[in-house]
Amino acid sequence: MAATTAGRAATTAHRLAQGRISARVVAEVLGLWRSLDPLRLTDPGWSAQVLAALARHREDSAALATRYYRDFRRAEAPAAAPLPPRPAPAGTSAPWRNRAATSLRVTGTRTVARLILGGLAPEAALDRAGPGVAAASSRHVLESGRAVVQTSLRADPAARGWLRVTDGDPCAFCAMLASRGAFGTPVLYRSERSATTTAATGEEYHDGCGCQAEPVFGRVVLPEASQRFAALWETSTEGLSGKAARNAFRRAHAAAHRG
Ligand SMILES: [Zn+2]
Repeated sequence: MAATTAGRAATTAHRLAQGRISARVVAEVLGLWRSLDPLRLTDPGWSAQVLAALARHREDSAALATRYYRDFRRAEAPAAAPLPPRPAPAGTSAPWRNRAATSLRVTGTRTVARLILGGLAPEAALDRAGPGVAAASSRHVLESGRAVVQTSLRADPAARGWLRVTDGDPCAFCAMLASRGAFGTPVLYRSERSATTTAATGEEYHDGCGCQAEPVFGRVVLPEASQRFAALWETSTEGLSGKAARNAFRRAHAAAHRG
């Protein structure tokens, strides 16, 4: 958690703004998806249209993250030397397009084909697959902003690492990662018992994930939600390790959410 009020506000505003970009992507991709003919879903046609939309939104996500990093750093590390100039993020470079095209093929074309083969009517198959296509699209857009924060951190001598900040309703996987503390090289801080779980880079973001990274410039303080997740991890996984611990935490997290 940021040390300053301005830093905390910047993180929250950034997470919400990236969430709004994600919502726009989902709406746009679903609109496009619904206009397709399920029986003529050849990859190049529809996925080229989606990729063009993603390229635009990726620029927005990256620009937002660039501003966030600058504002957050100004609030949290006012005495730090100015950032060295960085090349503009490559929003339209090939590697992300290849990864996104693969995601679209798996969540889109292949899923629809599988559902139709399984007996679903073509229109129903299209409806069923849509949310998956939209969630994958959103991840490939948010990746652009997340990459800006990570590259900025790595190039910034004043940055010590980063924390995972969840949205208001994270899944158990994200809650677990967030509870582990701050990531950095060396590892900055781990909540006591979470330190015994399998090491992860903390940079995993699934389709539909609303998490963002918050840079750490000073002392590490877990966000309140992450402190709760860490406490829940300690009570729910007592005496357990590995997969059994993760399953116990998942059940406890689900129960806490229902309650
Ligand atoms: Zn998440």
